[in-house]
Amino acid sequence: MRIDLHAHSTASDGTDSPAELVRKARAQGLDVVALTDHDTTRGHAEAARAVPEGLTLVPGAELSCRLNGTGLHLLAYLFDPQEPALLAERELVRDDRVPRARAMVGKLRELGVPVEWEQVARIAGDGSIGRPHIAEALVELGVVPTVSDAFTPDWLADGGRAYVPKHELDPFEAIRLVKAAGGVTVFAHPLAVKRGRVVPESAIAELAEAGLDGIEADHMDHEPETRARLKGLAADLGLLATGSSDYHGSRKTCSLGEYTTDPEVYGEIIRRATGAFPVPGTGGVRA
Ligand code: AMP
Ligand code: ZN
Ligand code: FE
Ligand code: FE
Repeated sequence: MRIDLHAHSTASDGTDSPAELVRKARAQGLDVVALTDHDTTRGHAEAARAVPEGLTLVPGAELSCRLNGTGLHLLAYLFDPQEPALLAERELVRDDRVPRARAMVGKLRELGVPVEWEQVARIAGDGSIGRPHIAEALVELGVVPTVSDAFTPDWLADGGRAYVPKHELDPFEAIRLVKAAGGVTVFAHPLAVKRGRVVPESAIAELAEAGLDGIEADHMDHEPETRARLKGLAADLGLLATGSSDYHGSRKTCSLGEYTTDPEVYGEIIRRATGAFPVPGTGGVRA
């Protein structure tokens, strides 16, 4: 069983449509893929209609959170997408992304970069808009060579010259809301230091105390020793340890299934979830 529990589509800042994503997942030999767009479940319906035979789709989302000034991402799986309290929070975070992206474009223009809002809006399409879309505009303009190169203090990194914060959830509240909606939570790339500041390990322990289910250990932004450290921490704290690609299509170098989750860990996630069911593929014949 090959299980990848973290992937993005055009519903947020990935480059494959939800339908393309599930087809590629099967073509890459995956048995299970989770669709975890930033702060939105908008891609679920399209993905669910297209799940190929032999693949199972796990509906999820990656929630933007902030703890004591440090941004963090919480993967949420198999929650009830209609549950009103969590839905309202997702909408708040997602809707705030638009004025925030406009403000970042304004800052870039003040810095002399001739980026236009229309350009960024075109790149984002109808996806939940974020820094990777703006980064791609900077690539198009020749300001930086790659999307990654825009995530520096000069440009879009946390606290960078053109950075603007967005509304984010308190992770303790997010864990409570996801649980109340029948879902399971996994702290995404908790020690991805190359992206900026990370929370201390004591915070991971407090989140575990508050009901966090797992941590993502195997991830492209963790060095091998960090992965091992996180697996040890998971064992100490009674947390599940997952592995996933965080696939974003052509916007990141990681391919689908590059990191995977142990089937037993996946089984435990499924067992704990009560808000939604995984969607087994029927070859795309579902109405
Ligand atoms: P936002 O949600 O708009 O704040 O943007 C965060 C997104 O930027 C996440 O999806 C990350 O995948 C992406 N990101 C963060 N750091 C980097 C980086 N160094 N290189 C490429 N993408 C990044
Ligand atoms: Zn992303
Ligand atoms: Fe993330
Ligand atoms: Fe992600």
